[in-house]
Amino acid sequence: MRVADLPTPALLVDVDAVDANLADMAAALPGPRMRPHVKAHKTTALAARQADVGHPGFTCATVREVEGMAAAGLGEDLLLANEVLDTRRLGRLVRDGSARVTVAIDSEPTLRAAVDGGVREVLVDVNVGLPRCGIAPERTGWLADRARAAGLTVRGVMGYEGHLMMLPDVAERARLTRECMERLLAAHADVGGDVVSGGGSGTWDMNTWVTELQAGSYALMDTAYSAAGLPFRQALTVLATVVSATDATADMPAFAVADVGLKSLGMDHGNPTVVGGQVWFCSDEHTTFGPEVPVAVGDRVTVLPAHVDPTVALHERMHLVRGTGPDAEVLDTWAVDLRGW
Ligand code: PLP
Ligand code: MN
Repeated sequence: MRVADLPTPALLVDVDAVDANLADMAAALPGPRMRPHVKAHKTTALAARQADVGHPGFTCATVREVEGMAAAGLGEDLLLANEVLDTRRLGRLVRDGSARVTVAIDSEPTLRAAVDGGVREVLVDVNVGLPRCGIAPERTGWLADRARAAGLTVRGVMGYEGHLMMLPDVAERARLTRECMERLLAAHADVGGDVVSGGGSGTWDMNTWVTELQAGSYALMDTAYSAAGLPFRQALTVLATVVSATDATADMPAFAVADVGLKSLGMDHGNPTVVGGQVWFCSDEHTTFGPEVPVAVGDRVTVLPAHVDPTVALHERMHLVRGTGPDAEVLDTWAVDLRGW
């Protein structure tokens, strides 16, 4: 199959770009130093490629992701780096031996849920500055003691400095990462265990304090992370078709409309980029853009999303391609099989 044969909108993954991203990260953070986050791509076929370059464990954001990774035979060491109250499906995986599952806890109810659901291993999630999940650093020792008293194995700590990932001033990003990680290491001294988990694509080369980095977006990339200065290649694009084109008039420049919009693009990091055009706006099923060269109805355009994770989660499949343009070969089609809940 050729790219020209695909119905649009379609997610395309450039095989050379994604493989280069995986290889570069694995060279910098080999084996268990990197725990790839699957929420960025929600695709077990891509996770298998990350396992192939040497990473034994994965980070997940949902119970569904943990379940899907276990079903795909990738359950060697799964961290659900999130608070979860309904642990029944996780306990089942632990009991039947299909996965090693560790969950984050930051409260008595999440600790209790782990015990009641049959999860045996936890990390204490520490608030390092992002106002989301995580217990205050000075309370971590208390929670670890409670967890051990309840029979859980406490493997260590995690803390995600997500508010720093895209700080444009890289020196400032590095300085604040150090501050966050000093909080995490202080908590680790109180909690114990081998694991200090944290970081993401935006701090991959400056967070030298964690024992394992939880980066996800680096594999496929997006324009927001490129703008933040990351060296990884834009492997993910959305193929779209021009469905309408209007010539310039006295009071309106020429514009064209592609069949990709809010329902096929994550927009919380801003507008997508259309190759060869300037985006005017997006609506449910449309992106209106000013073409830099004349386009005709039926032409294909390449669209770069601003935020990879929510873009991928809107699609059922992604196509692995080699090369660019309509004649590029479709090597494989991967199900985005970790979607849903
Ligand atoms: N760890 C956690 C807990 C996250 O929520 C995220 C993303 O939001 C990441 C790590 C890193 O992801 P990324 O590499 O896409 O920035
Ligand atoms: Mn994201």
